[in-house]
Amino acid sequence: MRIAVFGGTFNPIHIGHINVIKCVLKELKPDKLILMPTHIPPHKSAHDLASDEHRLEMCRLAAAEFSGVSVDDYELKSEGRSYTVATMEHLREVYPSDELYFVMGSDMTKTFLSWYQPKRITELCELVCLSRSDEDSEVISKYVDDIRAIGAKCYLLSCDPVEISSTRIRADIIAYGKSFGMLLSSVEEYIIKNKLYNFDKTKYNKYVDYLRADLSEKRFIHSMNVADEALRLAVLNDSDRSDAYFAGLVHDICKEIPIEEQLELVKRSKLPVTDVELKAPKTYHAIAAAVYLNEAFRVTNEQVLSAVRYHTVAKGGMTVLEKIVYMADLISMERDYKDVDEIRRCTHADINLGMKQAMIFTVKDSVKKCRPIPHITLDCYNEFIGL
Ligand code: ATP
Repeated sequence: MRIAVFGGTFNPIHIGHINVIKCVLKELKPDKLILMPTHIPPHKSAHDLASDEHRLEMCRLAAAEFSGVSVDDYELKSEGRSYTVATMEHLREVYPSDELYFVMGSDMTKTFLSWYQPKRITELCELVCLSRSDEDSEVISKYVDDIRAIGAKCYLLSCDPVEISSTRIRADIIAYGKSFGMLLSSVEEYIIKNKLYNFDKTKYNKYVDYLRADLSEKRFIHSMNVADEALRLAVLNDSDRSDAYFAGLVHDICKEIPIEEQLELVKRSKLPVTDVELKAPKTYHAIAAAVYLNEAFRVTNEQVLSAVRYHTVAKGGMTVLEKIVYMADLISMERDYKDVDEIRRCTHADINLGMKQAMIFTVKDSVKKCRPIPHITLDCYNEFIGL
């Protein structure tokens, strides 16, 4: 019998994994494909790690869509960290005379030789590798060759990659409550029903009510969308979620008050204000918001106040939170300017690449409209243009 084993955290299992399953079934034609969710000891728990039981159940829901695919809880039941070599030793005992294959994506293929006892693993089974992205497809064969050089039988399956990760899906669920088609519907329903990957937004209801009453509908929707996008970027960048969500929510809190009132607040700013900003009323609302939040709502979190203050003009040496709010404002759900999809894609892959795109876009736009550019914006542009 040909038995393929596909291990992973599966937190949650997604359409990238499903693509692997389909590809292995089609190309390798195993008699059995076993999904093997990995146990992560509680003290090592990563952020947003669903429990063993939930991950097992989600794998079962996915396996139910295919014939010949099953789920094994061997690693989940084992104490301590799961080592592939131990799992394959166990499977070799269970299936002494069958052909065993271990399936892995390109990120795993790249690091395979640094795993615990790679040579022993390749004595116990053959390896099956798949690309996770078009970029990986170009380099993966070199890693496969390196693995073959230790005497392993290692196959590279050529299937169109589905570029998605569990981290990205968790970010979408936490921020937007849905996966945008990146999960099987049974798995998505399970996640929603069991409130996995959750963020409690209700503690900001006071601010939401204030914004709803004070802002135009369009600006209110934008503020809600920036909060959600900032939350998504916080998850992707392992940054504080509450700070990001809150700063995104209130970043435009002063945008619709009379300009004279904005200027009064600007004059009380503890953070420095540049001459160019003073001559550009369109930039006042950000500086004013930081002052207003501190004076009217007693917000003292300097990280948050600074992220709000610099969300229009940026500056050199921005913190992750400052970048998150700046980018969330540019790529929030309702934005539909010409380059937004590309800037969104870059930002989700790497926030610094997003900042680079955003700086090029902003500086070009200011030059086209003959608008002065604050030197702090140029500091930011210069910082990212070399990336
Ligand atoms: P995370 O984002 O939390 O690191 P992940 O998406 O990488 O998660 P894992 O459960 O860690 O998912 O991956 C299990 C296995 O599936 C690994 O071998 C990994 O390389 C592979 N894999 C994950 N996503 C894809 C994908 N989109 N295409 C091909 N293989 C994938």
